[in-house]
Formats: sequence, structure tokens, C-alpha cells
Amino acid sequence: MSDSIGPEPYKFKMVEPLRQTSREDRERLIAEAGYNVFNLRAEDVYIDLLTDSGTSTMSQFQWAALLLGDESYAGSRSFFRFQETVTNITGYPYVLPTHQGRGAENILAAMLIQPGSVIPGNMHFDTTRAHIKLKGATPLDLVIAPGLDPEDCHPFKANIDLGRLEGVLQEHGSRKVPFVLITVTCNNNGGQPASMENVRSAAEICRRYRVPLFFDAARFAENCYFIRTRESGYQDREILRIAQEMFSYGDGCVMSSKKDGLVNIGGFMAFSDETLYRQACGLAVIYEGFPTYGGMAGRDMEALSVGLQEVLELPYLRFRIEQVAHLAGRLQEGGVPIVLPPGGHAVYLDARRFAPHIPQREFRGQALVVALYVEAGIRGVDLGPSMFGEEDTATGHEKYPDLELVRLAIPRRAYTNAHMDFVADSILEIYHNRVNLRGLKMVYQTPILRHFTCRFDYA
Ligand SMILES: *Cc1c(COP(=O)(O)O)cnc(C)c1O
Repeated sequence: MSDSIGPEPYKFKMVEPLRQTSREDRERLIAEAGYNVFNLRAEDVYIDLLTDSGTSTMSQFQWAALLLGDESYAGSRSFFRFQETVTNITGYPYVLPTHQGRGAENILAAMLIQPGSVIPGNMHFDTTRAHIKLKGATPLDLVIAPGLDPEDCHPFKANIDLGRLEGVLQEHGSRKVPFVLITVTCNNNGGQPASMENVRSAAEICRRYRVPLFFDAARFAENCYFIRTRESGYQDREILRIAQEMFSYGDGCVMSSKKDGLVNIGGFMAFSDETLYRQACGLAVIYEGFPTYGGMAGRDMEALSVGLQEVLELPYLRFRIEQVAHLAGRLQEGGVPIVLPPGGHAVYLDARRFAPHIPQREFRGQALVVALYVEAGIRGVDLGPSMFGEEDTATGHEKYPDLELVRLAIPRRAYTNAHMDFVADSILEIYHNRVNLRGLKMVYQTPILRHFTCRFDYA
């Protein structure tokens, strides 16, 4: 067997037509959208790589499972099936469904975070950062140095810096650090994985300081696939067994089911400890719902139970990761600066090296996102200053993040490799004409998660 990418390990039973627009249409549409692709209508997008969140194609088994949904308010059969599935994968017996990952984050933050708390992690996701800051606490990103270098080919660029973690725990102790959060895989630096060894060592440190360790598990299966292929000792291990070992080092998890749950909505949290779970239930009834449905319909819990099992199947995961690598490889061959090695759910363009002629203050990542839409009808997203930068309210100056990346997230089981080749060809074309890329200025913004609603104009 060759190592090259094989065909999809599934075929299509239902199709959704795509609509091509003209360049003139797209120039008008993006101007009307304030040069923010979140404001476009999805119909006006040809290939939508905005996110891998909630955009998965469900399998025939998931669609069939929907019909088995038990919509009882309390104690529904669908909940118990879901709980059993999550407990089998994570080992955590206490499972609480929520409407999305951020619903779980909200409850975790309300339970454990105080004003002045410090929350160390490898690299917090944007909604996680927002929840921590809303509670008056400080999110700390302690990813290893190679994790911040787009050209460094370290196999586990989401590893947490163990020395710095220990330093933070030594300085602040369990009184100021209510928990440590490891995000697998790490979206902000390229969909990069953490190694089993790193997770195990981080857990040992946390235990010594009596601080619980949680996972943000949105893409846990993709992380486990990287462990299987890159970490010695795991080559012949079932993905399920790898996941079980990883979760065994933590005290619980929050999860956005919209990623590796292979469903379009949902989330959950799970704990090994009953006291934490009881506390979470108390908040869930206010913010989410009764603990056996949380924020989910019974049928959605059924589809999620199936999705969580399908996402661990090797043929699925192998194709998934190789499809992302295929797009990355085509771009790399053409000299396009991307984050290496390619991650699990997306290809990330390095806007700094792609458009060095545009100054940082002119949102070069966003400029690239706009060009991708105008040239080809492709929707990506800027993970640079528009998302992670912020206006310093005291000085009015921008604070810039470490990385300026444009993410092309690949929805699960949705697009073919022919689509990926179209995306690659379009980006190569833009790259050859990159001197024509034009910078932007932000003309409207909100204080929290501004990237969703901000508006731009050409600088
Ligand atoms: C998507 C995501 C979240 C938030 O989940 P939602 O379901 O969008 O609310 C949190 N963490 C990570 C790593 C994510 O990818």
C-alpha cells in the first residue's frame, strides 16, 4: 500500500448544490458585508472553509439514530445512551449535556473561577479566553516555544511548557489556580496536537499542586490520531484506547460536539468527581436545562452518541487528516507560506510572510481572507489581530497577537479532494499576484469577540 491519499472512505447519498457567483457580484457582496466574511450569506459562498464547527456531514447511521430520540424531559433513554458513550471514551462517569462547548465553558467558569484567578493552559480557544476574562481572571497561554513558530516542524506543537506550568503553580498555588486546561488539538496555532507524554507530565505536576486538570476536547480524536502516528509506542493502538489513556490523566473535560462529535450542534462536560458534577448540575438548570438533556434534544444526543463512535474509526480519521495534508502539500509545493506541520482540521496560511508589504496595523490576514472570497468565492477566517488582537482601552493602541494566521478549516466528510484542488489552485493564483493585496482598516468593533461583528474598509 502506498502512503498517498486514498479516496473517500464513504460515498454520497444526498447532495447540496453549490452556487458560483461572478467576481463582480462578490466585490459588491463583500463591500456590503463590511469586508467581514461573517456577514456574508452562506449561499453567496462557493466553498465554505470558515469553520469545521457544526459543518460536518452526518452518516446514515446518525440520521437513522435521530428517529430513536427520546424527548422526555427527565431521564430520557437518549441521555443514558449518550452518557454511556462518553463514559466509555473518557472514563468520566458524570456527564452533563450542554447546548454547545461554550455552554460547558460558562458553567465551568461560573463554578470555579474567581476574580483574580489565573487559568493556565496550552493555548485557550477564543470563547474560553472570553469566559475567563468575563470572570475577571487571567488566561495564560503556556504553549512550548516551537508552538509559536509557524515554520518549526515539532510534531506536538500544542504541548504545554512544563517548566512554565510548574512555575505558575509554584507562584500562585491552588488558591489562585482553580484548574489547568489543555486544549486538544490546539486551534489557535494550527490545529496542532499535544503528546501523550506531555499530557501525562502536566497531569503529574497538577496533581502535586492539587489543581485539577481538564481537557478542552473539541478535537480529541484528531489529537489521538496524531499520537498514534507520531508518538512511539502508539502505532498499533486503537484510537479508542489512546483516547481512554489521554482522558485518564485528567479530572474532566468540556467539549464542543460541533467538531469531533460529527454533529451540527451540541456540547457536554464530563467529570470523574461527583461533587464537581453536582455543582455543575446546579448551574446547568439555570443556564442550560435539566441535567439529563442540558441544552440538547434527545434525538441530537442519539446522533452524537453515534458520531462519537464514528469519529474514532481509523479509515475515517486517516482520510480526514490526509485530506488536510493534501491541501497543505499542494500549497507548500507552490511556495505558499503555511503553518507546518499541517494540523488536524485546517490549513493555516501565514499572513505575515504571505503579504509582508501590508503593515501589521492594516490587518493583512483579513486582507487575504477578502481576496480569497473576491477571487474564488472561498470563505476562510483571519485568526490574527481581528480575532486575538484588542484595543488597549487606556491608550487606544492595538495589542497584537503572536501569530497572524488565516485559517482554512475543512468541514468533516463534506468536501472532496477535487474541491481541495480548486482551493489550492485559487490560493496559488493569489499568491503569484500577492503584491496586489490591499490592507484594511477597522471601522467598527465591539469589546468582546469583535471578529464576529466588526466592519472594515480598504485602508
Ligand atoms: C468550538 C470550540 C469551543 C467552543 O465550542 P462551541 O460549540 O462553538 O460553543 C471551545 N473550544 C474549542 C477548542 C473549540 O474548537
